[in-house]
Amino acid sequence: MSESCSVCRRVKDEEESGLVVYRSPHVVLYHMPEVDLPGYLVLATVRHEESLGSLTDEEIVAMARVEQHAVKALLEFPHVRKVYLASFGEVCAHTHFHLFPRTDEMLEAISSWTDGEIDGPRIFDTFRKALKTAGTPGPVFEIVQRLRGLFAEQSG
Ligand SMILES: [Zn+2]
Repeated sequence: MSESCSVCRRVKDEEESGLVVYRSPHVVLYHMPEVDLPGYLVLATVRHEESLGSLTDEEIVAMARVEQHAVKALLEFPHVRKVYLASFGEVCAHTHFHLFPRTDEMLEAISSWTDGEIDGPRIFDTFRKALKTAGTPGPVFEIVQRLRGLFAEQSG
């Protein structure tokens, strides 16, 4: 645990936040706080590790399985057309992936297109900023509850 790490804080404060969808000894899947985009998830290792190359075999397997389960669960929701996966490590170095639900409505914005093609990185950047909000909206907590159910079924 690194005191200055926002992902470590999120992993530690899970009970309080109510945003955790799934937790194993190796990984945590939680909803991105303070963004009004139900289904925008973050998958992180429990352990503070900054390099994907330094994860243990157990952590790598857990990351891959949970990522697959999460994408499947998100695609059960009618508003989710695709799930973008991204990892940057710029703002927070703790190994984590963004699971970003791309909706049909996002394609209506002119900024979502570049040279007549859907511009995924731009959509991710534009909407995660545009949908930033203070506090966490009610529909986010509702989708967390539903995802927990779907996730439990898929994890079997
Ligand atoms: Zn950390």
